[in-house]
Amino acid sequence: MDTTQPHANRALSPTGDPFLLTPGPLTTSATVKQAMLHDLGSRDKRFIAINAQMRARLVDIIHGGDDFVCVPLQGSGTFVVEAMIGTFVPPGGKLLVLVNGAYGTRMLKMCAYYGRDAEAQETAEDVPCDPAALDARLAADPAITHVAVVHCETTSGVLNPIAAIGAVVARHKRRLLIDSMSAFGALEVDAREIMFDAVVASSNKCLEGAPGMGFCLARTSALAECQGNAPSLSLDLHDQWVAMEKTGQWRFTPPVHCILALDQAITEFLDEGGVAGRSGRYRANCDILVKGLREMGFETLLPDALQAPIIVTVRMPSDPKFDFPAFYDRLAAAGYVIYPGKLTVAESFRIGCIGRLGAAEMNGALGAIREALADMGVTNCAP
Ligand SMILES: *Cc1c(COP(=O)(O)O)cnc(C)c1O
Repeated sequence: MDTTQPHANRALSPTGDPFLLTPGPLTTSATVKQAMLHDLGSRDKRFIAINAQMRARLVDIIHGGDDFVCVPLQGSGTFVVEAMIGTFVPPGGKLLVLVNGAYGTRMLKMCAYYGRDAEAQETAEDVPCDPAALDARLAADPAITHVAVVHCETTSGVLNPIAAIGAVVARHKRRLLIDSMSAFGALEVDAREIMFDAVVASSNKCLEGAPGMGFCLARTSALAECQGNAPSLSLDLHDQWVAMEKTGQWRFTPPVHCILALDQAITEFLDEGGVAGRSGRYRANCDILVKGLREMGFETLLPDALQAPIIVTVRMPSDPKFDFPAFYDRLAAAGYVIYPGKLTVAESFRIGCIGRLGAAEMNGALGAIREALADMGVTNCAP
């Protein structure tokens, strides 16, 4: 099936693009896209002011006050995760990574590249990481200096209990690093309540900006101790921070358009009511999606209590008439892009509830799913 040839009922965003029900990049508003229609030099006063405003407003989202600073970095989200690990975990340190999916595993891989001592504490992909097990592990291993946790593990969509993890790490006087990439802006990360040294996220997930930039919100006192840690110049957050504080400029070519889009996206995020407003819309999207899928007989991987309102993992139906590539193509032709699964434990696919989407798009996607199932002759969606 040729997905470039939309079928008659194709749903379209105002720009004529399909809706992205994926983990990112995501559907953005027209006004966020319009914000990119400028060419500003990296030393332009307007650009420097917007960059400073973006950094300050990102710190405000975690209620970081004077204790935190925003260090933005070029690249996709993975670049800033790697930069956080390389900058914060010193050469003689040891990182414990709480792993329940691909993004935790990726952090271990980064440590292997950098020759940093690291170990995993694993739970299954459909099980949140375990604060009690962490407590025992930290008590047993005084060599562990840092703990890393993924806020919403996008592999499955499971929500990890970062506040409980933070309390355990603080009690043992170790340092916490958080990958909140797929949750930031939709789920609270409150620096007044959770003790952590750094949290990273990117421009193109729940903040609904354009892809191309990540950022680290770092405890200033912790970052100040990190000079010389990073094994990579371009991923050295300490160097990026010092240079930006001195000149207001980025060390290397800034992703100008991405920053203009993110600053506009943050304005729209605040207009929507910040984290409370955004999480409300995403939760409603998630509820519509899960209810509709279950009505069709699909099974979701996670029970409702563990499901973050970010992305829903659906078990692959066992009906031999269900063919995922054909299903995917039919939905794409109808204007809805979904995502393949990434689980190791079960065959699955994923449908996102984030981005500039609401009830109309969720119901539209459910309608397209019903139509695709009918076309394929699938009558049983059970795994
Ligand atoms: C998206 C994501 C990342 C970064 O992915 P990129 O493809 O590099 O942007 C990291 N961690 C989590 C949990 C994510 O969801």
